[in-house]
Amino acid sequence: MLNKKTVDDINVKGKNVLVRCDFNVPVKDGVITDETRITAALPTIRKLVADGGRVILCSHMGKPKGQVKKELSLAPVADRLSELLGQPVKFACDDEVVGVNAKAAAAEMKDGEVILLENTRFRPEEEKNGENLSKDLASLASVYVNDAFGTAHRAHASTAGVTSYVDEAVVGYLMEKEINFLGNAVDDPVRPFAAILGGSKVSSKISVINNLLEKVDVLIIGGGMGYTFVKAAGGSIGKSLLEEDYLEYASEMVKKAEEKGVKLLLPVDCIIASEISDDAETAVSPVNAIPDDKMGLDIGPETIKMFRDAVKDCRTVIWNGPMGVFETPKFAKGTEAIAETLAELDATTIIGGGDSAAAVNQLGFGDKMSHISTGGGASLEFLEGKELPGVAVIAEK
Ligand code: AMP
Repeated sequence: MLNKKTVDDINVKGKNVLVRCDFNVPVKDGVITDETRITAALPTIRKLVADGGRVILCSHMGKPKGQVKKELSLAPVADRLSELLGQPVKFACDDEVVGVNAKAAAAEMKDGEVILLENTRFRPEEEKNGENLSKDLASLASVYVNDAFGTAHRAHASTAGVTSYVDEAVVGYLMEKEINFLGNAVDDPVRPFAAILGGSKVSSKISVINNLLEKVDVLIIGGGMGYTFVKAAGGSIGKSLLEEDYLEYASEMVKKAEEKGVKLLLPVDCIIASEISDDAETAVSPVNAIPDDKMGLDIGPETIKMFRDAVKDCRTVIWNGPMGVFETPKFAKGTEAIAETLAELDATTIIGGGDSAAAVNQLGFGDKMSHISTGGGASLEFLEGKELPGVAVIAEK
């Protein structure tokens, strides 16, 4: 269980409270196309409003890289938040984030009111954890709440630096929930415990594989990264994704799994094609005998069956990364099958953000999972066993 101070441990009545949220939502033509991250922030905001706090919200959106990019303004989020909260959320429209508008609004606020600052990444100091922005943000409030799990793996001004200049710093309910779900699953799982990893690269998941082999009973590897493992075992993988530099590592992980008694499952068949396109001609191939001019782009029917059977009796399952090039419908069946399998399980099912979360939501299985993390990168770093900088700066209870 998370042992950090939370919004339940403080008294915010009459105080200005700066809340770092993760409002990094997709916006198209000024319209928010997925508001999951906004709704996920509501419990903390509602609690602070109910307690009479003067709530100052801040967040980043996209990657403006320290410049003002109007298409990455948080203005649409303020409008949607007003609707969801049923009360006005004033947008402090300062390009420098903490400017005349934010300062005036913060000074005039009454208990229970809410304002939203502009995209913190409009300031170059944000991603450098710069002192100036940290101090500017802290000048608006005496209490700080970090509820941005999606950026908790980054030490930025609004996620870490700011805590040095406020009286109190705590985590919000979303952060608490994310960490408790992921933490309990990894440290004290109801067994059997399985992890399913996919996505393109072994290199981006090496530490996750290594750490999970210490914890799980079953480790399933699919997606593009699976081919490096198949090649390491002597298979012919054609033009499939390969990371030559990780062949030895893949062999070591297979050996480690054997030593630890972990059942490590790799694909046995796959869907092959010459190109990534919905018009491509496809065939099913054994994963270790792919013709030289073809590549494996999804797991095959035998593998789907094998992966399904492997998790059938599991009581805890964590999934991160697609089983194939799921953006192209022709190569999405494996990913869809895993989403469907987890939706039907009578187990704690945790989806580690990013592509797997998108797939689960698109297929309408969102409410069938125990927990869908709002942070892809953050949940991966958590699964690597690292302490997240945005959590490390919060005091223990
Ligand atoms: P990652 O960012 O490492 O989690 O990987 C996600 C990406 O992996 C998605 O964009 C998928 O299209 C891609 N991917 C999954 N399986 C394969 C594959 N067999 N070949 C190429 N790319 C893949």
